[in-house]
Amino acid sequence: MTVRGALQSGAASLRARSIDTPFLDATLLLAEALATTKERLFAAYSDEISPERAELFQRLLGERLSGRPVSYIRRRKEFFGREFYVDERVLVPRPDSEPLVEAALRIIDGCERVAPIRRVHDVGTGSGCLALTLALERPYLAVSASDLSPGAEEVFRINAARLACDLPFTRASLLSGLPGPFDMIVSNPPYLTDAEVQAMIESGWPEPPEALRGGREGLDCIEQLVAQSVDCLVRDSYLLIECAPQQVERAAGMLTAAGYERVEVLPDLAGRGRVVIGRLRTAGGAERA
Ligand code: GLN
Repeated sequence: MTVRGALQSGAASLRARSIDTPFLDATLLLAEALATTKERLFAAYSDEISPERAELFQRLLGERLSGRPVSYIRRRKEFFGREFYVDERVLVPRPDSEPLVEAALRIIDGCERVAPIRRVHDVGTGSGCLALTLALERPYLAVSASDLSPGAEEVFRINAARLACDLPFTRASLLSGLPGPFDMIVSNPPYLTDAEVQAMIESGWPEPPEALRGGREGLDCIEQLVAQSVDCLVRDSYLLIECAPQQVERAAGMLTAAGYERVEVLPDLAGRGRVVIGRLRTAGGAERA
């Protein structure tokens, strides 16, 4: 069988199961089976595939057909131009979270001459995509991360080692017991509704429910995080939270009520409100170090 033939038949079987992106998925899985990149694959359409590689491709395809996301099958996902190790212990990093990184970098750069931001903390870091990206993009920052899940801690440490970016990690429920103070807190907390998570579990979706479940309206963790954050931040520091588009207004209201000013909502790549940002007016009086 040729590369072209394998791609066509693979994509056809994925399409038959109504998988969203059949050709892309088939391409990524064939590249995986052939230990090559998708770009090199496109330049090798007429190459013959060995029976062993074809069998491996069929196995990977079978995993995808049984509902496993491509990122878990390949055990990696690109985020902000870097590759992160992922498996069932963590949420797969989404492009939806990249605008949060961009916003954080913009604020950090904008504050540099006035009141430099140094201590940045990522709450519920999962794979570590936010914390490690910020630390690698701006190496002078003192970035730390936390997560309640022991599995997430393991995956975080794998990524920290692979990206040669050794950051302090604490196992904690949101900000409980974290030393602080911080100049900026970022988070992609669990924000799906109980009903959404239940539907995902019933459909066999393998992402960890505890990374997604945000209570009846999906706002429980956000509410708790906003409340805790004011004791962990210094004056004029920033909180950036990712949430669902239908939650942004209520999340913004929570920030305002907690004493944040200049509260704004930034859109994701699809133009839907996604990141809520606020600057803390006063916080225990502590100044930036
Ligand atoms: N963006 C994720 C989803 O829609 C949810 C992530 C989260 O709860 N933090 O599946």
